[in-house]
This record gives sequence, C-alpha cells and structure tokens, in this order.
Amino acid sequence: MRVFGSPVASSPRQDNQPAQKIHLDFDRFTPSFRRIPRLCMHTHPSETVEMIKGLRALAQNIWWTWNQSAHDIFADLAPRTWHLHHHNPVAVLNEMSDAELRVRLFEPDLARSVRAVLAEFNAYINAPSTWVSRHMPALAQSEIAYFSAEFGLHEILPIAAGGLGVLAGDHAKAASDLGLKFIGISLFYREGYFHQSINHDNWQAESYTPLKPQNLPMDLVLDPLGKPVICSIELPIGTVHFCAWRVNVGRCPIYLLDADLVDIPGAPQNPPQARDLTLRVYGGDTTTRIMQEIVLGIGGVRLLRKLGHVPEVFHMNEGHAAFLTLELTREKMAEGMRMADALAATRSECIFTTHTPVPAGHDRFASELISYALGRMEKDLKISHAEMMALGQEDRTQPDSPFCMTVLALNASRSANGVSELHGKVSRQMWQKLYPGRSENDVPIGHITNGIHLLGWMKASARQFWVGHLGKVAGELSNGDQFYERINHPDFWKRIEDEHFVSDEELWAMRYRLRRELIEFARVRMVHASVNPVDAAHYDKVLSVDALTIGFARRFATYKRAPLIFDRFDDIVRLAKNTERPVQFIFAGKAHPADNEGKKFIQKIIHLSEHSYLHGSLVFVENYDIHVARHLVAGCDVWLNNPRRPLEASGTSGMKALCHGCLNFSILDGWWREGFDGENGFGIGDDSHPDDVAEQDRRDSDNLYRALSEEIIPAFYNRDAQGIPRQWLRRVRRSIASMTAQYSTWRMVQDYARKYYLPPA
Ligand SMILES: *Cc1c(COP(=O)(O)O)cnc(C)c1O
Repeated sequence: MRVFGSPVASSPRQDNQPAQKIHLDFDRFTPSFRRIPRLCMHTHPSETVEMIKGLRALAQNIWWTWNQSAHDIFADLAPRTWHLHHHNPVAVLNEMSDAELRVRLFEPDLARSVRAVLAEFNAYINAPSTWVSRHMPALAQSEIAYFSAEFGLHEILPIAAGGLGVLAGDHAKAASDLGLKFIGISLFYREGYFHQSINHDNWQAESYTPLKPQNLPMDLVLDPLGKPVICSIELPIGTVHFCAWRVNVGRCPIYLLDADLVDIPGAPQNPPQARDLTLRVYGGDTTTRIMQEIVLGIGGVRLLRKLGHVPEVFHMNEGHAAFLTLELTREKMAEGMRMADALAATRSECIFTTHTPVPAGHDRFASELISYALGRMEKDLKISHAEMMALGQEDRTQPDSPFCMTVLALNASRSANGVSELHGKVSRQMWQKLYPGRSENDVPIGHITNGIHLLGWMKASARQFWVGHLGKVAGELSNGDQFYERINHPDFWKRIEDEHFVSDEELWAMRYRLRRELIEFARVRMVHASVNPVDAAHYDKVLSVDALTIGFARRFATYKRAPLIFDRFDDIVRLAKNTERPVQFIFAGKAHPADNEGKKFIQKIIHLSEHSYLHGSLVFVENYDIHVARHLVAGCDVWLNNPRRPLEASGTSGMKALCHGCLNFSILDGWWREGFDGENGFGIGDDSHPDDVAEQDRRDSDNLYRALSEEIIPAFYNRDAQGIPRQWLRRVRRSIASMTAQYSTWRMVQDYARKYYLPPA
C-alpha cells in the first residue's frame, strides 16, 4: 500500500506501512554533524534536498503541534500565511516553491534549527525503545483500533464538536508518545464543525467552509498500484463507497473515512445524498446520523481489513461507533461461526468508554429506522428484527423500546468504563437495569479519569519557563527526544514546591506574561467581532491586564449552565466595578446548531457584556475552538466550571489550565471531585447535590458567589510590599505540583493499557 502526498505538495512519504516502520533517512543530520563549526557549514545541495523533503514530511505529521521548534520554523517561514491559514504548515509549504526553500535554507540559523528538528523527529518516529516496549512488552505488537466520531487534533482540522473529540485527539497523541500501536478511525467531514458568528440579535449563526484536503496534513490512502483504496457499504439509499485519508499523529495513523469522492480520480461515484453523509460533524437528522454511524463503525472495520490490520482491541470512544460490533460478528459468521459464538468472540475484542450521563448524549433509534438502515445486516447475521432490536434495547420487555447505541456497546464489550470515579458510579446506576440480579457495585463499568496531552496544550511561553526553571537539573532535558517523557512525570512538577527552582517573583511574572498574551488576544478578537466590534482606538478599554481574570469556555450545553454566575447579577457587577479589586470575565463556546436553549445562554452572556455596568469587564470571544481554548486556559487566573452535578462526566478544559498556573474553581463534579484537595484551587459546594434542579441552581450560585467574594478575591489581591500575592502563589504551586502529571493523557493511556488493552488473563 502507498499513501500519496497531496497533489500540490509532493509529500516524500510514499508508503503506507504502519507509522512505526517509516524510516526517514536523516542520518546525515546526526548531532556530530551539528557540531561542525559555523563558518564552514555550507549546506550541501543534496542535504538541502533532504531537508526540504523532511520539512514536507514534518508538515504532514501532527507531531509538529507538540514540538515547539517545529512550530516556530513553520511560523517563521511565512508569518502572514501562517497567520492567515490558522497555523497550517501544509498551507505554508504549498505556497513556497522548492527553489525558495532552497534559498531560505542558506540562512545558517534556519538551517541549523531545521536540521535539529528533523533529527528529533526522526529519533521520535524510529525510537527503538518506548514506554510500551519497556513496561508492557505484551502489548508491543498489539494493534489497538480506536473509533471516535470526532478527533480534535488542531484548529486547522475542525472535525470535533467539543471535549469528546479533543480527548480522542489527546489520546492518540499520548498513544504515539508511549509507543502503542494505535490506529484511529473517524470520518472526514468535508465541512467540519461550524464556524460561529453572532448576529444583531446576539444569536449564534453557523457557517461552513469546505475543507481542502490538499491543504491539510492528510494523505489519500492508496493501494500498491497507486489507486485510491475504496470500500463500500450497503445502505438503504444504495451502495455507498468511501475512501480514506490518513492523518499521521506521531507514530500512529488516524484514518478518516470520506463518502464524497467527487475529486478522487478513478473512484466510483456516490449519489449526492450519500456524499453528504460525511459532510458535517453531527449534522442532519436521525436518518443521516444512523447512516453516519454505520459508515464509521461498519465502514471503519472494512477499511482496517482492506489495509490488512488485525487489531487485538477495538476501543469505542462513546457509543457512536458501536455498529462495529455487528460487523465483527458478521465477519466471524461468514467464516462459519454461529451467531452466539461470533458475538461472544466479538465481545472478547471490544472495550467501550461511555462519556456522559446526559440522556441526549446517548443515541437512540426507533425500531423502523433500525429496520430501514440495518435490514441488510439483520439478513447477514441471520437474526430477526426483534433479535436485532434486543441487542440495543434498554427494556426488552417493551417492544417499542428504541435501540440505544450505548446498550449495544455495553452488550458487545468485554469491559466498559466511565471517565471519572463519580461518573463510573453514576454509569453503574444508570445501566444497572441491563444487568438484572446484580447489585449496583457489580455492574461491570469501571472508570479511568480523563487527561490532556500536556505538551500539546502548553503555551510556548509556559514551556520555555518550565524548561528553564524545572529543567535545571544536571543532565536532564539536554536531549530533546525524551522531553515528553520527563515532563509528564510527577517528580518534574513536584520541583515547583521548592523556591530554589522558581521564586514567587518569577512565577508571578510568568502569570503576568500569560495574562497579557490572553488579554491582547481577546482584544484583537473584539476588534474583529461580528457585531459591535470594538473601535481600535478604544482597544485598551477592553479588559485590564491587572484584574483578576475568570474564564469559562466549553460547549454551551445547558447542563453546563454558562450564565450561572450572573444569577446574582448586582453582586457580580459590584465585584467587577470595584476599582481596588476588579474582577473580569472572558466567555467562549458554541451551542449545537439545533440547541436553542444553549443559544439563549450565549445571547444572555453577550447581552450582559453589552450592559453598561459590565462593559469592558465581560467579553464573549466568538468561535471557540482549540486555538481559542489554548489562549484562555493559559491566560486566565481562574478557570470556572459550574455544571449541574453529576452531569459533567469528567471535563478536561480545567486540566489544560494546570500547567499554566491558572487555578480551577469548580463544582465537585467529574475530575475536580478527585483533583481538589482543599488547597490546590477552589471548590463550589461539597460532595453532594440536591435532587431538585431549581434548588441546586440556587445553592450553587450562592456557593459560587461566596467562594468568589470571600476566598478568591481576597487571596488574589492580598499583596505584600513587593506587590506579590504570596498566598495565591502557594495555591498555584500546589495546583501544579499535585495535578499536572496526574491529569495527563500520558497517565490516562497507561491506565487504559494496563486495565483494558491487555487481554484478560
Ligand atoms: C478542552 C476542550 C473542550 C472540553 O471542555 P470541558 O470543560 O471539558 O467541557 C471543549 N472544546 C474545546 C475546543 C476544548 O479544547
């Protein structure tokens, strides 16, 4: 099999071997070469050719998103293009001819950093020893297929709607770092997730821009003859063909299935209805939805087989992909197994992670729709429609009980888990009905608390700071290739408790720098806002670089209660307008296009931000995405999270705040119930919640206000003679030391490997 580069940028990578085997021949860029004195370091023409090839390969691997030097090289090559194309190295290189690159590489500094980065990239891709090979050799050869309806890898590839997708992307990055043979499966949504703007009624408007594969870090998957690999699936609308795009995430591939074959040369064509199946993330009605999920689950397995993969584990990230279990069962029956045995064998290969207790988060399909969309599968599995329904029904005694994807996933997996301790418990309660006769504690759903990919989220200025301060230990961090291991270790972060490594003054200076970066980012966004943009002359009237800055950004699902803090509006205005101790708020987030209640929340917050009392102290930053998230979690002093407990299964944005010295301020739900120790941030309420929703809202907004006015503001503004908030910084140190490594995907994927990926004894 071969993978061709995009038609414009001829990628040098032409094989479709599993990423681990890719060998880029950069031997000439070894450290000894780098030691040649600068004066005689004329770049040899053949070396330049290799470097250009190397840069193009680097752009086609998401690895650059967690390597600062790689990032800096692309930004430096064409700064305006970099900016205009939302930090896209493929677009930068597409604009640059080999001739220009050749000349640019005459710059000794540039050539030197390109050489160093390519050496680091090569060492990473070909590392002979990884965490998995050292600690879990039993898994070293096992392929783990990970199915997810969304992957959030970087803002240039907007195929995620929120935290679920970002988690999947961070899982993939850590799987690569650890050396797992991870293969991601998802869909290539040609229009991705929507771009948010705000209209004159302060109402969210959605727009879609077609994504251009040739300008993205993805390659069409080709067969050995150079023809696109095409799989197909029988749907009621006819046979649907799809191709696949490969996204390289370090050592691991993610394959994105795509039913829009119009510009794929030599591919069979689909009718428009079928082409649109992979148009948008969670787009269309339930009929579109079920067919999308058939393409993801069943189509994903077919693609893996066509590429010759035999994964030992199929990991379903949420129920969307659960139809894969039907395809695995069908395969076994085609080889002669009986249905019951085939299903049992499938169960032994599958694991399932459930991500939400919110009912709307679990897909349910009516019986007629299942019969319409999966009629062919019922025949292949030689089961009646009632038997098919029984695989997914919550209540089998009710013939019209709908087909629930979570139920199918639970029925067809050897293990299942929630994403925090509390969520595990809530899930056991929720699904106990599927396990008659078992007590709640015996319901086979465990938990692994989520994490984030630390290097992928750490802002450049924070990374520089930590390397400079906590990396100052003899012999450490000299050698870039193992950096990602050390920085994920709790011992690295424990050093912050020792003032010898970082003084309060230095830590406070870093906080100022990060806050300044955020405020400037938010101001620029306000100048370009879709309604009532800020006049550039009054730019500095928006937000203050000295004020206590509270951030809230995530999907505007109603259970997350974005406007809760404004329930006590007059009190909040008083806090915001206190000239001695001002507080300011930055909000961002998208509501699902069909969620009018979520849109009302957005409207309310923007309306309040225009209120004269809060003008300049409350801003709503449009079009929340990974890029906006990165600025917000780094620059805020306080990261607010006030979901209706226990509906936030984990939450991850607060974890991204940790390594930036931003303190969490949250309801004790999801991960925060485990992370909070009383001194490493701030809690809202306690480890309980009333059943009555209105009462809960009231209680939470009172507790929120009390903690803000009595704990947070005094701690932030209590300064010594040098103007340093010592007490605040003690919390910052404790937050960083106690949680940064714990809530990383480096830890999380290790937990998955040990608890769930290893075959049961
Ligand atoms: C991290 C992240 C999320 C998840 O935020 P929660 O607080 O867990 O809801 C959602 N969207 C984006 C873009 C993110 O980066």
